[in-house]
Amino acid sequence: MRGDPAPPEDEADVHSEAELQKRDALIDPVLAPLVRRLKRQLQDEQNDVLDRLRSGRGTPTVDDALGTDADHTARYEAVAYEAVTTVGRAGAEPVGSAPDDVPGLRAISAALAFEITRPVRRSVSRALGSGTDDDEQALADGVGAAYREWRTTRIEKLASDHLSAAYVAGVFAAGGGRKAVWVVDDGGEPCPDCDDNSLAGPTPIGEAFPTGQLLPPAHPGCRCLLVPR
Ligand SMILES: [Zn+2]
Repeated sequence: MRGDPAPPEDEADVHSEAELQKRDALIDPVLAPLVRRLKRQLQDEQNDVLDRLRSGRGTPTVDDALGTDADHTARYEAVAYEAVTTVGRAGAEPVGSAPDDVPGLRAISAALAFEITRPVRRSVSRALGSGTDDDEQALADGVGAAYREWRTTRIEKLASDHLSAAYVAGVFAAGGGRKAVWVVDDGGEPCPDCDDNSLAGPTPIGEAFPTGQLLPPAHPGCRCLLVPR
């Protein structure tokens, strides 16, 4: 594709593509261990819930099984924060100086955690509510199913999208006083909003793009990038 003779305006596309690849190359080595740790957390948690079911103390509530919503989410946030910070700093570093504590990274870690715990709590709650106390195997099967989908497919995409957001937060934090273009990467999905922001061209960092956003992501699954110009 890129081997075809390119018209002159493609130079910007090639540059954007290189920036996206640079981001991916920085994210990938952080993503793999993060996904492993999140999956381990899910596995440990599933084992705890099953142990609790087998203990014969009756069917626990979701708060009994997983802790309160806040405590549950905080456990995943703690797992995510180191990776999110590493990628946020990596995004900032080539752009300029950024504060040690890049703004937004705690919120991104919390958002990643919440995107995991919200559906897990819903699924576990449904599983625990579906049987009777003496139907332990059915409860255990339901809990297993609640976690399986997460450990197999969803976690990697979610973690990758949030690391992408951390990278952009780093660029944003370090790029004060410069302009940046919005480079579209919506995973192959069409997104008119992100296209509009891209068409706006170089925009001072900290000023809103046409959709009102200061920086990506514009929506779940948005992996768009800010590239200083
Ligand atoms: Zn986007």
